[in-house]
Amino acid sequence: MAEGIAERLAAVRQGMAEAARRAGRDPGEVTLVAVSKTKPVEEIQAAIRAGQVDFGENYAQELREKMAEVSDPRVRWHFIGHLQTNKVKHLAGEAALIHSVDSVKLLEELEKRAAGKGLVQEILLEVNLGGEESKSGMTEAGLPEVIEAALLRPHLKLRGLMTMPPYFPEGEPSRPFYRRLRELRDQEQARLLGRAELRELSMGLSHDFQVAIEEGATMVRVGTAIFGAR
Ligand SMILES: *Cc1c(COP(=O)(O)O)cnc(C)c1O
Repeated sequence: MAEGIAERLAAVRQGMAEAARRAGRDPGEVTLVAVSKTKPVEEIQAAIRAGQVDFGENYAQELREKMAEVSDPRVRWHFIGHLQTNKVKHLAGEAALIHSVDSVKLLEELEKRAAGKGLVQEILLEVNLGGEESKSGMTEAGLPEVIEAALLRPHLKLRGLMTMPPYFPEGEPSRPFYRRLRELRDQEQARLLGRAELRELSMGLSHDFQVAIEEGATMVRVGTAIFGAR
């Protein structure tokens, strides 16, 4: 499966650039996070050879194993999976960005681990906009409280928001969720009066990343369209 990765990456990058241009945005402001969960290291290496540097993983153990095998210093690892307090220990300082923080309890644990390692961990807060119980993420109503809690923690740097909408096979039904995340970000940014810069909007998957970019995504998390079905 390592063959074809460069071509599929190029196609995704082209689709991203087209979506950005449609929305009057600079394609350079959107980062492609290649989601490599369950895929072997050889496929990650093939993507690196094709110029990809941002990779997303969902499982803490798998992330650590892959980090140990892929020693390329250009690579930035993103943790995008469901976070559990007992798994946070190793993540702090390993993932360049943790996209899926969704509670004050997790913030506290991450702060403790980052402080212990003497580093500042960059994070996003995950919002569950579809109200699905099976999905992680805090409610919209809970967001201001968690933002305030994040800003009190000196070893955490809040960079923005992330969401994972309910799944529809077509991309278009995701649009209202992505638009809502952007509105929420703008609303919170205004409320914060410069106390934080919520620059990043991590939203968009293989089947709907163009829609997400049209709605303001700064990071798209694309797996299947690059590495094939899991
Ligand atoms: C697996 C996963 C993705 C990638 O999904 P694809 O449909 O394979 O592009 C993106 N975000 C999260 C949180 C995921 O778990």
